Amino acid sequence: VINLYYPLRSLKEGHWFKLICGASFQHLPAIQNLVLAYALAGADCVDVAADAAVVAAAREALDRAERYWRQVIAPTTGCDRPWVRPLLMVSLNDGDDPHFRKACFDPAHCPADCPRPCEPICPAQAIAFPPTANGVIAERCYGCGRCVPICPLNRITTAFYQFSPADLGPLVNQGVDAIEIHTQVGREAAFESLWAAIAPVVPQLACVAVSCPDGDGIEDYLRSLDALMQPRPPVVVWQADGRPMSGDIGDGTTHATLRLGQKLLAAHLPGYVQLAGGTNGYTVEKLRSLHLLAPTAGPQAIAGVAYGSYARKLLSPVLDALDERQARASPPAPRPSPYLEYHPDLLESAMRLAHALIDPLKRHPSLLIASP
Ligand code: SF4
Ligand code: SF4
Repeated sequence: VINLYYPLRSLKEGHWFKLICGASFQHLPAIQNLVLAYALAGADCVDVAADAAVVAAAREALDRAERYWRQVIAPTTGCDRPWVRPLLMVSLNDGDDPHFRKACFDPAHCPADCPRPCEPICPAQAIAFPPTANGVIAERCYGCGRCVPICPLNRITTAFYQFSPADLGPLVNQGVDAIEIHTQVGREAAFESLWAAIAPVVPQLACVAVSCPDGDGIEDYLRSLDALMQPRPPVVVWQADGRPMSGDIGDGTTHATLRLGQKLLAAHLPGYVQLAGGTNGYTVEKLRSLHLLAPTAGPQAIAGVAYGSYARKLLSPVLDALDERQARASPPAPRPSPYLEYHPDLLESAMRLAHALIDPLKRHPSLLIASP
């Protein structure tokens, strides 16, 4: 199936798909291959950490996806449609937020006989012990916090960090098209101060998303943010962050974002409502059964879905197989490429998995795009 979509049109038509690589996730090889596979499968947007190295890696992956489209997919399928580049989004925060933290501990302080329950529970393989690594591998940790309560000796702590607004201009010059601001109910002052600092860059953006978990008075809170977002971004997306970073745990995690999405729709906020936080392979089916997706929903439809931990977990067997190929290589044989497109069997598997997540959202023939 050849799927290419014009991102902002996807929002309007209610089938926007966003890949969340993780506001703290900085493992560049994984980010590159995730971006490549999901871009080729029809993602409208890829959301990455606001970090120059991560943005450079994601941009490079989008360039490689375009090349692969032009040189391999278009000629072999006879498709003459132009390549459509997904939007590149970065995530910022206006205060402490689990998406913007890293776990930390010193293995030297762990008892030698500890069965190490922290290691298998980490969904990002971010915990390893000497000689492989020294505790948390920071670039892999995306802050989910699952390792913290499982340590019987409370050895694991987390440290929050704050996005520096001065970094946004250079990131936009690097090719960032859109931003997502993580906030929480009651943070008007912090949001306003962040907005004031980034306002000069806003006119260069195609889209601004505001991500918020549920809380008392969320409707009024988001209305107040809407009023202070001046200059007005061309497109505003309200991201219903139901149960953050939990989509890989089980089907049921999607209910919180479904409920929050319905709440935000009922609030008639100016802009689009998109789900995140607990989204998984069950989300679209549930949205359709509730008539919250186009074309059966009316004008008040959910505009799209963002997938983070579930999308990453879906492709992890393929990325693990690629890692294994690299680890198995021994000199003088050349080390296999870390890029998926140099492993056609793995790329095909990755794209099949990515399509399985994207296509149900975009399955209506009327949604196959012919023009911008
Ligand atoms: S379990 Fe979550 S918080 Fe802990 S190291 Fe892994 S990714 Fe980081
Ligand atoms: S569970 Fe706690 S004590 Fe045991 S290895 Fe992990 S961090 Fe160390």
